[in-house]
Amino acid sequence: MSDLSDTPPSHTAFDPETGIDPFLSGKIKLLMKLRSAGIRDTRVLSALESIPRELFVPRMFVDKAYADTALPIESGQTISQPQIVAWMTAALDVSDRHRVLEIGTGSGYQAAILSRLARRVYTIERHRALAEIAEERFRKLRLGNITSRVGDGTKGWPEVAPFERIIVTAAAKEVPAALVEQLEIGGVMVMPVGDPTGDQILLRLERTAEGYTSQHLMNVRFVPLITGKAPS
Ligand code: SAH
Repeated sequence: MSDLSDTPPSHTAFDPETGIDPFLSGKIKLLMKLRSAGIRDTRVLSALESIPRELFVPRMFVDKAYADTALPIESGQTISQPQIVAWMTAALDVSDRHRVLEIGTGSGYQAAILSRLARRVYTIERHRALAEIAEERFRKLRLGNITSRVGDGTKGWPEVAPFERIIVTAAAKEVPAALVEQLEIGGVMVMPVGDPTGDQILLRLERTAEGYTSQHLMNVRFVPLITGKAPS
């Protein structure tokens, strides 16, 4: 595949000469599709409307920024399908009082969506190159309530735990125990679980005093959650 590393992209959502957003009609079509697929949470839909996905995809895929598909990003990873981002965000049930932990920053798109709904978003990525590109996007969009770091997300972020919400955007065979421990009692975690190279199920967990209860939301396919920081 050709080089994906020419990011952050310099294209903007808005053409200052014509005053026209060239992505607007694609964005409207996508939002209509999400609505008819059953996503009714208007806060989630507004967050998707307000974050320019074209700034989170590699330049060579920018024409597909509002197609309802996952796309390749740098370091062999993917930016999730918009519909999955919408379902996961809706299932997380985030309010502006919540501090949310995300594992797997990737492009930064899911974190950017969450930043519109939560008090603060903490996001961890194992690939330094991805974390740096994502941070540049957060700066450019002035999303000041996102804190990001490079590291192994399976260990969580104990220094700032507990969290009211946790979202994991990579798949593992099991729910990492450290993440359950760092979830507040009554808190919610959304995560794909199953064979990391095949089909997985999206789980919504609720933390209880003894452990957690879980609910199966849908079948999904995510890149694997890999223990340890990636070599840089
Ligand atoms: N939320 C992302 C989706 C990224 S794909 C987005 O909106 O674009 C999943 C990401 O999880 C990949 O970037 C991968 O490198 C990262 N990842 C996998 N295992 C990890 C781990 N143990 N800790 C932190 N990040 C991890």
